[in-house]
Amino acid sequence: MGMTFKRPWLAHYPKSIPGRINIEEKALHMYLQEAAEDEPEKVALEFMGTEMTYEEVYHQSLALCERLQSLGIEQGDRVAIMLPNCPQAVISYYGTLMAGAVVVQTNPLYVERELENQIVDSGAKLIICLDMVYPRVMNIFGHTNLEHVIVTKVEEYLPFPKSMIYPLMKKRNHQMLVNTYHTDHTHSLNTLIKNGHPTQVNSVSVDPKRDLALLQYTGGTTRSAKGCMLTHRNLVSNTAQALTWMYKIDHGNEVILCALPFFHVYGMTVGMNFSIMDRSKMVIVPRFEREQVLKTIQKQKVSIFPGTPTMYIGIINDPHVHKYDLSSVNVSISGSAPLPFDVQMRFEQLTGGKLVEGYGLTEASPVSHFNLVWGYRPKGSIGLPWPNTDVKVISQETGEMVGPGEIGEIAICGPQIMRGYWRRREETRASFQEEWLLTGDMGYMDEEGFFYIVDRKKDMIIAGGFNIYPREIEEVLFKHDDVQEVAVVGVPDLYRGETVKAFVVLKEGATVNERELDIYCRKYLAAYKVPKMYEFREELPKTTVGKVLKRELTNEKKPIVSRE
Ligand code: AMP
Repeated sequence: MGMTFKRPWLAHYPKSIPGRINIEEKALHMYLQEAAEDEPEKVALEFMGTEMTYEEVYHQSLALCERLQSLGIEQGDRVAIMLPNCPQAVISYYGTLMAGAVVVQTNPLYVERELENQIVDSGAKLIICLDMVYPRVMNIFGHTNLEHVIVTKVEEYLPFPKSMIYPLMKKRNHQMLVNTYHTDHTHSLNTLIKNGHPTQVNSVSVDPKRDLALLQYTGGTTRSAKGCMLTHRNLVSNTAQALTWMYKIDHGNEVILCALPFFHVYGMTVGMNFSIMDRSKMVIVPRFEREQVLKTIQKQKVSIFPGTPTMYIGIINDPHVHKYDLSSVNVSISGSAPLPFDVQMRFEQLTGGKLVEGYGLTEASPVSHFNLVWGYRPKGSIGLPWPNTDVKVISQETGEMVGPGEIGEIAICGPQIMRGYWRRREETRASFQEEWLLTGDMGYMDEEGFFYIVDRKKDMIIAGGFNIYPREIEEVLFKHDDVQEVAVVGVPDLYRGETVKAFVVLKEGATVNERELDIYCRKYLAAYKVPKMYEFREELPKTTVGKVLKRELTNEKKPIVSRE
């Protein structure tokens, strides 16, 4: 009770990072416009050998904006974008924002049910999609408010045959798809852009604090999907915070690898928007494919590599990794899941650059914490709160703020925090304590102001009355030489309520068995935390940004290899 709020983390900020930064009152797309006006010839993006300048990206976005308006899109309307990473994804995103409309990011891997839920919930009037998902879109079209579909082929921006570059494309028959377009409400993105009149755009005035830029659906791994309402100010803030944090980079001259999907808030902010606000160059790859990524890093001399632990684990374990020159990579930023220390060390040795872990969630646009890139990084910490960001830890028992070292729910307040969930008052109310966003993550702050995540509130296992945090067990197992990946979940148990089960992916050629892992775990963990069951897998089910889908693992009714 009565604990005073302090910001011990500010003491660790280097001189070049102020505790509070000035955030411009601007719409996000203004940064693209200004870059195009000031430095039109500068390369904004590279994709499979094709380059586009800032002027080209801006001009095409503006042309699309005019066409969207002519199709009836007005300020505040929702426009869904269902594209993998490609130049069209950038143009569609910025073109939509210029029209004052709200982007609804849609995962191209969604099946019809997921797509329909999202389109209905958001009330999107128009969708821009890849031709290969067009049949899926048409199957749900009649159940939604959609009035138009805009279709594109990734290869429309490429100078050479599609089959060479995009493995997904080999499987389909283009001609068939093109012939089955329903012409009255289907349009070609390329044709629209070619026929657009950038000079005839109806100007819209955006209030960055109030107006939404994005509905970003979240909750896929544990709950039903809800749309986070992110304003222009939310997105501008988070990118400005990122640019401040990376104070030593060569602003304006970085080469940023965009392998994280833009349709996920992490890839959108630290890949696309970061690059545009910095006026650097994004190097876009359609999906994370190890060999292609390694080749791209070498060829394009990538200097910044935002990624996920899964990507870095994949790279350090690649048998051919030493064939590539990765020395251009200066800063890699890892988020979305815990980064094992060993992975950080090995990746840093490989590139000679820094690999730094941060933390965030969709509701925070997404980043709230980061480790110092050029400074003290305590092992296992998610780092310090970003400028303009306040964080406290709230006790589950009392609902009050607790002091250093005590575990509670992390709560965040800052300009990057969403306005709420779209059309869900109850859920919005439940996610906030006054202006503090309740993250659903359990963690603590040390005396110095560094934060640590213990686990997700909902992943905590309660076995025989003990609270068990799977992450702790995962960390122990991960250190075993034979283990490549691991996920620990709670499974129902007649006597203990729940019991601990580990899903393990072994490294190639590894032979460790259940008994050996058990002996190993007993060395490092109290008996009640030691997994009672193991299951060996070829791979773990994951989301597109590499988060393990624990719900899928817990829901599975497969026979279990139990020791007892
Ligand atoms: P999403 O909204 O899908 O981006 O998921 C956000 C969640 O990812 C957070 O609430 C955390 O549970 C998890 N997360 C993100 N970054 C980290 C990290 N560095 N360490 C542990 N968990 C993380």
